[in-house]
Amino acid sequence: MKKYDIIIIGGGVIGCMTARALSRFDLKVLLIERESDIGMGASSANSAIIHAGHDPMPGSLKAEMNRLANPMWDQVSADLGIPFKRSGAYIVAIGEDEFGCLAALKERAEKNGVLTEIFNADEMLKREPLVNPATSGALFTPTAGMVDPFAACVASIENAIQNGVEVLTDTAFTGFIMEGKKIIGIHTSQGDFACRWVVNAAGTYSDEVMHAAETRQDFKITPRRGEYYLLDKAEIEINNILFPVPSKVSKGILVLGSTHGNVLVGPNSQTTDYKENKAVTPEGLAEIWQGAQKLVPSITPRSVIAVFAGLRATGNAECQTPGVNYHNDFVIERAGEVDGLINLAGIESPGLTAAPAIAQRVTELLKEGGEKLTEKPGWNPIRPARPRFNHLTREEQAALVAQDPRYGRIVCRCEMITEGEIVAEIHAPLPARTYDAIKRRTWLGTGRCLGSFDMPRVVDILAHELNLPVTAIRKKGAGSEFLLRQTKEVEA
Ligand SMILES: Cc1cc2nc3c(=O)[nH]c(=O)nc-3n(C[C@H](O)[C@H](O)[C@H](O)COP(=O)(O)OP(=O)(O)OC[C@H]3O[C@@H](n4cnc5c(N)ncnc54)[C@H](O)[C@@H]3O)c2cc1C
Repeated sequence: MKKYDIIIIGGGVIGCMTARALSRFDLKVLLIERESDIGMGASSANSAIIHAGHDPMPGSLKAEMNRLANPMWDQVSADLGIPFKRSGAYIVAIGEDEFGCLAALKERAEKNGVLTEIFNADEMLKREPLVNPATSGALFTPTAGMVDPFAACVASIENAIQNGVEVLTDTAFTGFIMEGKKIIGIHTSQGDFACRWVVNAAGTYSDEVMHAAETRQDFKITPRRGEYYLLDKAEIEINNILFPVPSKVSKGILVLGSTHGNVLVGPNSQTTDYKENKAVTPEGLAEIWQGAQKLVPSITPRSVIAVFAGLRATGNAECQTPGVNYHNDFVIERAGEVDGLINLAGIESPGLTAAPAIAQRVTELLKEGGEKLTEKPGWNPIRPARPRFNHLTREEQAALVAQDPRYGRIVCRCEMITEGEIVAEIHAPLPARTYDAIKRRTWLGTGRCLGSFDMPRVVDILAHELNLPVTAIRKKGAGSEFLLRQTKEVEA
């Protein structure tokens, strides 16, 4: 049985950033992910906001992790080449009643140590002219920002791999190997592995991992689905994050720009018992459209490119701060009942924001658990971003093409993605081996034609680079092959 010091279950942003934090130390670390790629859960289907921290209940772990993590993003994004823009965010009041709510929101934000400013309607309209002219003003949080959440996963796991972490995709955790009350390994769909510690970063399944270790039997994740529209960047440009005044249960339906230039609209909030329920529904889409039009009345259905949904891993953990009555807090703990388990559970929003601070907290929990963490001498925190052809100047593009002519062949015309970029992703430290893996890394196939132009070419490039028949090339995991058989084979 292969032996590790630490095994991380789950390759979302929490698992990937934790892997990177641990790669700093002299430890043998394995991350397992049951999907065919990392970042296929909530970490790539969210609003992509680095929250200022105005929203979490003061005193909760969510508030603390948000406060600690928000300032880390400048360094993390610079080290790892993650697209990140500290744009600030606006909570936009429509009508006089809503303007009255901004003072209470400002007070909560200040309790969380978050800088805020209240703007009048004129200032709000000057900053974002597409906002509903009926706005009465806004609460501005300048420290909020937008990030590419999938890039955050891929960049941190690549940096971890460069620093010695091993990753197995298509590998599902199925149970613990125990010696009394001590974890000594895990069973997976790819065999057994020995380890001294397990970090449970399994997102919506983190409760099931806990229960497999017979800990926290009363902890339950009840996923909350959030649906979105993605709008065409050629049709509408918004470079801000616009929140409505929130309701009691949610931050509300947002309209926001993204690091890719597209506008996102959503999410709503629907509780579901099924942990794979990422369906979008006509009712849900109608709800988010209505919410979005309240903030930006000029959005039109013709600008819609795609719809998708993500699942929030909403847990039922009590906030641990005495006197704070709050029931959906993060769980970040060394498990009480067994040795060798760290639970990172109930990590719903602001989990993306909080990820670097949660990863840091894992190292502290390990130290508290008696682990001697010795820094590796050659640890390198830098993972340079690979070239993005359409972000380069003409001169830089020409130099790149001269170096490698594959950067001169455009494969995705909407997003201007080249063969060189696709090949680079296929041979990256965590190889992109499916169409969707390349799409998430390059943003190819996300324009008006939704990949109908690039798909056959990408299948061909994947087959060539991976030395596989085209019939083996998949959209995502097993069973999603594009082609069943060759149509022009010469019969023997
Ligand atoms: C609609 C929505 C909007 C959001 N907006 C924001 C936002 O704007 N800002 C913000 O800060 N946060 C936001 N969040 C929250 C944020 O996306 C999550 O907190 C974060 O992505 C959680 O990361 P994770 O790694 O814990 O979970 P995931 O990304 O879900 O990763 C868990 C991984 O574990 C894997 N896994 C599960 N079971 C097993 C198993 N048995 N074996 C192996 N692997 C397993 C899964 O396949 C998955 O890849 C939002 C979330 C949603 C759903």
